[in-house]
Amino acid sequence: MAESAQDNDKLARRGLMFILSSPSGAGKTTISRMLLAADDEIKLSVSVTTRPPRPGEEDGVHYYFVDDAEFDRMVEEDDFYEWAHVFGHRYGTPKGRIRAALKDGQDFLFDIDWQGTQQLFQKDQQDVVRVFILPPSIAELERRLRSRGTDSEEVVQARMERARAEISHWDAYDYVVINEDVNACFAKVREILDAERMKRQRQTGLIPFVRELMS
Ligand code: 5GP
Repeated sequence: MAESAQDNDKLARRGLMFILSSPSGAGKTTISRMLLAADDEIKLSVSVTTRPPRPGEEDGVHYYFVDDAEFDRMVEEDDFYEWAHVFGHRYGTPKGRIRAALKDGQDFLFDIDWQGTQQLFQKDQQDVVRVFILPPSIAELERRLRSRGTDSEEVVQARMERARAEISHWDAYDYVVINEDVNACFAKVREILDAERMKRQRQTGLIPFVRELMS
């Protein structure tokens, strides 16, 4: 019934995969947390792992816990956007589960590095939105990394080196936001998400809506 569809929020739409990347210290984790708290329509993607659950971890919430045979089967069926060995276990981003939810309008947030971003983008260009967060300056990045307080000079320098390497991939992203002020940065990230949700090809409910308008 078209009578209830007065604005875009009421129309059916396809979900999107919203990727936030940044060098460590540029604020990606803070922005991710703010976004998850402020927006009910986006959630973190849940990975599949062969690692046993830790106390308090729930299947389907922290991870989907599977055995080796099940993980093998998923690899064979090409059911991962990407997967990797980490500390003796395997972890992956499940394609089938995410695709089914995207179809129902669920958005997913990915807090991943540029390599993970490339893998996701290669497998699903139409659903992926890539956002890169930059620090306002190298001096400020170093200050933020040092303000954690616990790291030795060597560790800080190693992190700075990694940060520079990560920054060099800035041009593999659709949007780049400079995080001078966390609230202003967050507002810009939300604007990107809102605009991407309005893309015509994501608004699957437009076809019946416009058909009704024209009838
Ligand atoms: P933990 O076992 O402590 O929860 O996670 C160990 C590591 O696995 C973390 O560094 C985390 O980033 C990584 N990890 C978790 N899920 C995935 C995934 O889906 N893909 C990849 N490549 N790494 C993951």
